[in-house]
Amino acid sequence: MVDLGVFDFLNDIKEKGLVKNIGFSFHDEYSAFEEIIKSYPWDFCQIQLNYLDINYQAGMKGYNLAKDMGIPMVIMEPVKGGRLANPPEEIKNSLKEFTDLSPAQEALKFPLSLDNVMVVLSGMNDIDQVRENLEIASEVSYNSLTKEDESFYENARKIYKSREQIGCTACEYCLPCTVEINIPKVFGLWNKAYLYDEEEKSKTDYQEYLKDGVSPTECIECGKCEGICPQNLEIIEDLKEANEYLA
Ligand code: SF4
Ligand code: SF4
Repeated sequence: MVDLGVFDFLNDIKEKGLVKNIGFSFHDEYSAFEEIIKSYPWDFCQIQLNYLDINYQAGMKGYNLAKDMGIPMVIMEPVKGGRLANPPEEIKNSLKEFTDLSPAQEALKFPLSLDNVMVVLSGMNDIDQVRENLEIASEVSYNSLTKEDESFYENARKIYKSREQIGCTACEYCLPCTVEINIPKVFGLWNKAYLYDEEEKSKTDYQEYLKDGVSPTECIECGKCEGICPQNLEIIEDLKEANEYLA
């Protein structure tokens, strides 16, 4: 991108007043993050961050680097594509022990409390979610996490880690698959079986999917999906494993 003159272009549009703030959005390994953030005087940058993904992609290491460089951050996936809004029962129960906040609110509290975060992006499907998010965003101030919050996050990380089969966030960047396998659907069912103790339901739903959907056994191993997966998943092998379990 540097060889293509992207920075000259960015400087030009900024000088002309067409754009006030220049930033980049990021999904990759930490080393790439460090290279990119140090390559230009960015006004901001955007990463995936939530209480589960502190050591994933840029993670907290990337957050701290951006903070040291004085580059404010936009946070995406604060509720991990909705997953942290509906965690396993044992996580919900541990939350109820110290707060009335919903699981989604407790998840949002994590990035909202980081003092180098200027925006937390969260997808909302209905007005109740808008209200819920506004409520927590109004309440949380920088550096306000309590010991209870910290130990809740730590405990939840351990529980999720022990249950998750694959780190697919259902972003759908891998679609369309060359033979039209619904990759996030298959991985989602595989994960749900473990995350929510829904083995039978996932297997039934998988049979439903196979009625109209393409089976992972049809994969021709073209590799198109793996190169664009922001989570760097080994989709071809993982699909085989998911199918073996679900079918
Ligand atoms: S490798 Fe398989 S799953 Fe991936 S795009 Fe190609 S056919 Fe689809
Ligand atoms: S497999 Fe990768 S690209 Fe596809 S939905 Fe999951 S995380 Fe996104």
